[in-house]
Amino acid sequence: MSRAIDMASDREMVERDLALANIRASAKRITPLPTGLCPWCSDPTAAPDDVFCCTECAKDWQEHNERKQTAARINGMLRQ
Ligand SMILES: [Zn+2]
Repeated sequence: MSRAIDMASDREMVERDLALANIRASAKRITPLPTGLCPWCSDPTAAPDDVFCCTECAKDWQEHNERKQTAARINGMLRQ
């Protein structure tokens, strides 16, 4: 009896861990790092520490990302 409950909660924990790992993995993938090239238009950036070549690209990227993250959040909510 209690063993069945333990097994069920174990599976739940594994599924939650997997979901969290997926969220972390995708969050890492969509975070741009300064590479010397703008990740949005591939133009060289002014400084090596700059992620984007201009604020317009940063804004476009951010808007694009927010839409993607909102979609991911909605999908996650629907699955629960
Ligand atoms: Zn750019």
